[in-house]
Amino acid sequence: MATEDGLSPMERLRSHYDHEELTCAECGYEDDDGHWQSETNGSEVHYFHECPQCGAVREHTLSISGD
Ligand SMILES: [Zn+2]
Repeated sequence: MATEDGLSPMERLRSHYDHEELTCAECGYEDDDGHWQSETNGSEVHYFHECPQCGAVREHTLSISGD
């Protein structure tokens, strides 16, 4: 099913994280050049970002819907 901007839900979510959640909750460092990493095992996607300043890791795990 196509979305209005041509991005898949996963791509939209990753874009959201890239824009909204790259400020470290631990030390407040703004990782302007950073990106969420993602990996998948086929049934879920694991997003993670490690703060380059303090090393705090933030994670999100999403289940991939069967359709
Ligand atoms: Zn930090």
